[in-house]
Amino acid sequence: MNVKMDILSPYKEATDVILEAGGEPLKLCYQCGLCTAVCPWNLVRSFLVRRIIHEAQLGAVDFGSEDVWTCVTCRACVDRCPRGVEIIDVMRAIRRAVASLGIGAVPDALRISAKNIAGVGNPLGEAPEGRNDWAKDLKAKDFAAGTEVLYFPCCIPSYDPDVKTVARSVATIFNELKIDYGLIGTEAKCCGEAIRKAGHEDTFQSLAQNNIDLFASNGVKTVVVSSPHCYHTFKHEYPELGGKFEVIHITQYLASLIKKGSLKPSKEINKKVIYSDPCYLGRHNDIYDDPREILRSIPALGLVEFPDARENGLCCGGGGGRIWMDTAKGERFSDIRVEQAAEKGADIIAVACPYCLLNYRDSVLSMGKAETMQVKDITELVAQAL
Ligand code: SF4
Ligand code: SF4
Repeated sequence: MNVKMDILSPYKEATDVILEAGGEPLKLCYQCGLCTAVCPWNLVRSFLVRRIIHEAQLGAVDFGSEDVWTCVTCRACVDRCPRGVEIIDVMRAIRRAVASLGIGAVPDALRISAKNIAGVGNPLGEAPEGRNDWAKDLKAKDFAAGTEVLYFPCCIPSYDPDVKTVARSVATIFNELKIDYGLIGTEAKCCGEAIRKAGHEDTFQSLAQNNIDLFASNGVKTVVVSSPHCYHTFKHEYPELGGKFEVIHITQYLASLIKKGSLKPSKEINKKVIYSDPCYLGRHNDIYDDPREILRSIPALGLVEFPDARENGLCCGGGGGRIWMDTAKGERFSDIRVEQAAEKGADIIAVACPYCLLNYRDSVLSMGKAETMQVKDITELVAQAL
């Protein structure tokens, strides 16, 4: 379906939604095209960001195009735009118009994840009462008023059998260091960051309110998270909805313990490790050094860098709700990353985000590199080196 806005009246509301979300900066775009030039999609296929922004200015967006769902919200374009256009907000607003006004098709895989999140509070469709099952044998206590830290692992490490090792590694480190931490009850729900970027604003509002009320009623003051996506929304989006708590990414937390001298990895990991900056830790939140300091603290570990590390780091392809959508072979950024890591001779790709972990592990397997390359969360490496 090709729904153009030049037949304006039935879709006027959608145009207003986009213009409101884009605001004044959208009008500032002077069509230089830098956004298209830096967008990683153009490494694998054509994705004309400048043209979408122009269409949004004109109120002439093609709501039926697959381009509506393409942006991974990596922020490479926003950081380069000379006019300060909040391009991700525009992409989000277009999706919101489609999802809420039904003027285009929502991809099937995204629809299923959105239904699961709205229904049971996690994208995997798992039972809410099983949220803390990953910790059953680890003696993690329930959070109670006065507990120093709430550990919030994200839905994927909580439920995905192959990613639970991330949450389990954090609990192992915390237990070893005698950190006063607790887990929140099974009433906790997905943070909502990605589903909001995928245009499901009402679902996000309801998830955020649930978690804010839950944290407040339990007296939570400090939350340590494993996912940069939880970090981002807790830090930047929950406060305007009434969320009043400090949020710390696990890499910040562990780096501070290393600086204080209370965390000292002692076992050698004699491997070449390459660290991939997650977009929501790096470009979105300027956290580049803490993960590297942790890796450097592990004896015998050799840290190498991607050719486009830090601010220029390539997205794994999982942001903006794309973690739930299918990406064709030949268009996966994570495949490019695995190839780059192999060229650098890395034995391990170290990550600090559950989406990166899923995407890189998939790529390593599908590219037949599982014999020579592993993908590990930084916390898994720290737990191994304790
Ligand atoms: S980089 Fe900014 S000003 Fe240039 S085309 Fe893109 S949105 Fe417009
Ligand atoms: S946020 Fe990233 S994927 Fe989205 S348009 Fe900008 S550069 Fe492209």
